[in-house]
Amino acid sequence: MEKILNHLHWLGHDCFLYDGDPVIYFDPYELKKGKPKADIILITHEHFDHCSPEDVRKIQKSDTTIITDSKSAQKLKGDVRVVKPGDSITVGNIKIEVHPAYNTNKQFHPRSSGMLSFLVTIDGVSIYHAGDTDLIEEMGNIRADIALLPVSGTYVMTAEEAVEAALKINPRIAIPMHYGSIVGSEEDAEKFKKMLEGKIDVRILTKE
Ligand code: ZN
Repeated sequence: MEKILNHLHWLGHDCFLYDGDPVIYFDPYELKKGKPKADIILITHEHFDHCSPEDVRKIQKSDTTIITDSKSAQKLKGDVRVVKPGDSITVGNIKIEVHPAYNTNKQFHPRSSGMLSFLVTIDGVSIYHAGDTDLIEEMGNIRADIALLPVSGTYVMTAEEAVEAALKINPRIAIPMHYGSIVGSEEDAEKFKKMLEGKIDVRILTKE
């Protein structure tokens, strides 16, 4: 568990890098220079702050596998695999379950758009990247060791709603995301952590 966490880096907003073997990115966005090339890139939806072709180009190799929805796929080149909620895909020894992500009390990410969240299992440890979402009933089916949850409000869950999501998923570790770039601040992350004190181990990562 800690071994996996040591390889998990928050690059800001919803972007995470797992720099073990293989190298996996979630929603690469505003990448700094010198980041490692990707073996697998997971993109939750087509919005510019999640599907950034410019950032994908910085880390893509000829054999990089990209897993995403059909709208994002139109903006990308290479080995792009189109998936939808309910799908399951294995790349090398990495198992990836595809789950939905959508809004319930706002219109930015309608359920009908088929936007994604991912449950990725690496060496027996499962990481759930929730994408841009509200608290949704499907979270009840997620069994994750590590949950990456948006906390900023506006386009996604508020910190309070993310607390409910965390309690529903009940991961061993929860990590707040979707703050500090476009909307949301460190305060949202701190609020999320404080409200889960004694219930779920929340780690606030430093942006790298
Ligand atoms: Zn979005």
